[in-house]
Amino acid sequence: MFGGVILEKLKKRIQQIKKKRPGYGKMLDFYQKVEEAQQSIKASLKMKPIKLKKEWKELLAKEGFSLIQKEDFPLDIETSTKLFATLCQIGKDTNPHMAEQVRKIKEAIDHKRIDLKKLLSKGMEEEKVKKVADESELDKGVLLFLIQSSIKPSIEAGREKLKSELDPETWLNGYCPVCGSLPLLSLLKGEVGKRYLLCSYCGYQWKIDRLFCPFCNNKDQKFLQYFYGEGEETYRIDLCDKCHQYIKTIDCRTLEELDPVLEDLATLHLDILASQKGYKRPIPNPWTA
Ligand SMILES: [Zn+2]
Ligand SMILES: [Zn+2]
Repeated sequence: MFGGVILEKLKKRIQQIKKKRPGYGKMLDFYQKVEEAQQSIKASLKMKPIKLKKEWKELLAKEGFSLIQKEDFPLDIETSTKLFATLCQIGKDTNPHMAEQVRKIKEAIDHKRIDLKKLLSKGMEEEKVKKVADESELDKGVLLFLIQSSIKPSIEAGREKLKSELDPETWLNGYCPVCGSLPLLSLLKGEVGKRYLLCSYCGYQWKIDRLFCPFCNNKDQKFLQYFYGEGEETYRIDLCDKCHQYIKTIDCRTLEELDPVLEDLATLHLDILASQKGYKRPIPNPWTA
């Protein structure tokens, strides 16, 4: 039921964006189908408990260690395998390139050149997935996307279990307190517009200073600037002149019930502008890889 409400809101928002920016239409239709598939398996996930180190509280506070590492997330491989098959089908119907890649992936699995369950269980190790793609002459981006989208519901379920262990207001570092990953986006929330980072891996959100580059820890205002898209004050690109990287900031106060990844995907034109100005995005939107 809960998932159904989320999906209804997502569909509505996608319709709004498509009206405003028809160029994103195909990509957003694909996004919606993948989200639907991910939501629909959530109820059947079987998750093992997560073991935390005894000294985690101390390590977190004193050493700045994240609660767990990416590879510590328990994964439901059976359910991920089913989701993988569904996502391949969606991919096949999306465009000829995806269809060709899905055909080659299936062939590699049938000929035992790819051990799908093993690959899913290593899905968080990007380099391993890319190596397998190379060996089977596959598009790395497509394989990585399919694998990581298949394990995403497990990762999110793990994050939900760990959430209560942490205080999102006190961490203040540029990396995720749950899993140690870098942020995908920054979000402004609440009446005064407190700034949060969104983890690129597990989706946890934690507070940071308003003037802060999460990639090099720069807090010097002289080296931080930003720009908006034309007529789009909801989306801001925060540039750092120390490391020449940037993060996209979404002002959640003007959008109700937003899906940050979707909003990011629908504003890729801002990423093009940032790149033209000579800034790099350390963690691109996973849909663009
Ligand atoms: Zn995380
Ligand atoms: Zn920086």
